[in-house]
Amino acid sequence: MAKLKIVKVGDDTLRKVCRPVDKITPRVLTLLDDMVDTMRDAGGVGLAGPQVGILRRIVVIEVEDGNVLELINPKIIAFAGEQEGMEGCLSLPGQWGIVKRPMHVTVRATNRHGETVDYSGSGLLARCFCHELDHLDGKLYPDVAERMLTREEIEELE
Ligand code: ZN
Repeated sequence: MAKLKIVKVGDDTLRKVCRPVDKITPRVLTLLDDMVDTMRDAGGVGLAGPQVGILRRIVVIEVEDGNVLELINPKIIAFAGEQEGMEGCLSLPGQWGIVKRPMHVTVRATNRHGETVDYSGSGLLARCFCHELDHLDGKLYPDVAERMLTREEIEELE
């Protein structure tokens, strides 16, 4: 396993639409492992392919310690409700925004064994699904944020 370099805002890679994974090769499995390592090392709860320079529809999420979700070609198949809360991104260090997201989200994806799996989440997990899947279409959370936090507000948080 290895730690990958996280692509930061300003890099075009973050604005590209990712291609689906058509075959789960050993390279894809290594990438999943490396993405989990990279996410944990950076203290994040989610990481998407473009954030490590890979334009493929791959996401890893760990909202609950030890419960890693590996999503290949994920799609949101259902959502309900609404929540408004703070969001940040490993590719936009030091920034925070207020973003409205659905309260409940169900995602359908392929797992590392090639099986189709559905994951349902509420609250932070639902937010994370939306945020990470947006990355696969070149979208960043400031694009959909109600507003970004000011420097003063961020200092108060720290
Ligand atoms: Zn992000």
